[in-house]
Amino acid sequence: MNARRQPIHAVESDAPRAIAPTEWKRFEQSIGEIFEAFGMDLDTPGTRRTPERYLRALYDATSGYDGDDKLLAVFPNECRREGDRLVGQLLEGPISFYALCEHHALPFHGVAHVGYIAHERIIGVSKLTRLVRLYARRFTVQERLGEQIADALGDLIEPHGIAVRLEAAHLCTQMRGVREEHSRTVTTVWRGVYSDAPDLRREFLADVRCE
Ligand SMILES: [Zn+2]
Ligand SMILES: [Zn+2]
Repeated sequence: MNARRQPIHAVESDAPRAIAPTEWKRFEQSIGEIFEAFGMDLDTPGTRRTPERYLRALYDATSGYDGDDKLLAVFPNECRREGDRLVGQLLEGPISFYALCEHHALPFHGVAHVGYIAHERIIGVSKLTRLVRLYARRFTVQERLGEQIADALGDLIEPHGIAVRLEAAHLCTQMRGVREEHSRTVTTVWRGVYSDAPDLRREFLADVRCE
């Protein structure tokens, strides 16, 4: 278990990471040794600072562990019904994301579509983008990423239903030729009213395809 993994509801930044300068130096040394052993010439103008740049890029790509306290703003909404049917699916997407697969620490990237049936609160599209990136910028797997986005959105606005569809290309398989170059992995999470209403699921998927 990763001790740094925050509880799903904790979207605010409770403990941003802190890495001491001496640690950075040690990490640069280690990654430099690995690059060199694998074939990189570290003694050129272009590569001398590569270990440092690589670690900085990796640190930025995992900034989701630092949390995001700008996520907490939500807006009031009027719950809408027609007869006994809830109306007003909100669909946002495509939201692009880049994540690191926890099995290989290599990127998987693609787009997210998030749909929800609002109750008394809604969230702006820029916040949804933040929410997707909060969980994408970590070492994760696609299935968990979808679940975490759905859980956090549920905590933030308590809608009647949530749908999260992720479509991604996984470099850990594609770069090594394990899988066909253009294959995409699709995962979908259904929550609340989507779970037992096929018509809502169809509506969501139809809207996603029209994007
Ligand atoms: Zn992988
Ligand atoms: Zn409602």
